[in-house]
Amino acid sequence: MSKVRYRGRFAPSPTGPLHFGSLVSALASYLDAKASQGEWLVRIEDIDPPREQAGAAKLILKALEYYGLHWDQPIIYQSSRHAIYQDYIEYLRKQQQAYPCTCSRKELSIFHGQYPGTCRNQRTLPASPFAIRLKTESTPVNFIDKIQGAQSFNLEEEGGDFIIKRKDGLFAYQLAVVVDDTLQGITHILRGSDLLDSTPRQYYLQSVLGFSHPSYAHIPVIVASDGKKLSKQNLATPLPLEHPQPVLIRALHALNQSPPPELIGAKVSEIIAWATRHWDSRIIPQSLTIPETLLPTTA
Ligand code: GLU
Ligand code: ZN
Repeated sequence: MSKVRYRGRFAPSPTGPLHFGSLVSALASYLDAKASQGEWLVRIEDIDPPREQAGAAKLILKALEYYGLHWDQPIIYQSSRHAIYQDYIEYLRKQQQAYPCTCSRKELSIFHGQYPGTCRNQRTLPASPFAIRLKTESTPVNFIDKIQGAQSFNLEEEGGDFIIKRKDGLFAYQLAVVVDDTLQGITHILRGSDLLDSTPRQYYLQSVLGFSHPSYAHIPVIVASDGKKLSKQNLATPLPLEHPQPVLIRALHALNQSPPPELIGAKVSEIIAWATRHWDSRIIPQSLTIPETLLPTTA
């Protein structure tokens, strides 16, 4: 692994085209990397085919390029890395840190999301379909989030042993993201705060695997003034592929950066260059509502 001081990444799941909220995350992670003379990578997290939309990965990449966010290394597709994830599953099982779980959704429903540990001592692989769970501990996971501040989670009390490979054979996001962030040498993770409650699981998994921890910063989820979260799920408007300039300027405002009004007439590359030179991650707000009028209107 080459030694870089800062390597950041944007890791979208191809469940739909890029929307304003994901542009803000991508832009923030890009600018933070570039302002530190770092590298910025893009990884397509296509490990959950039932949730994916045909053509979305291509559209996301096209939008990133259109908005001037150029990546520094070849793109990694998680769909081509199953063998690597399986190796880590087997390693964790050998270490007795992970075990097969045959519990059905119905059996678990009475525990309201808290896994009761039913299969914890199961060593041999069952004949019926099984998930793989990672053993958790009651020692709290503590980390500092650069935007959200000190975080402390007791994984055993907050859900308990969690799934790293699903019963349907798909690898869980928590496993794939930790493995790839480490194998790609990612040093800084800046992403939306909808992932903040996944971070303790990832942090813990890094500890179990003997990986070092990247630094974490979670930017606020962008919500419209009517309180609705912008996401692919609630069909946020895809980013326009024409006239990216005003949208980029809005994204910079959302991050509390203050682009001068005349920048709206500049080229995309000039906007990005200005934003890199003036980037200040300390002024990203902890929570953020943007008025309806600042949302992109054109589809
Ligand atoms: N693939 C995840 C998503 O699009 C994000 C992964 C990450 O940034 O850690 O929600
Ligand atoms: Zn079980």
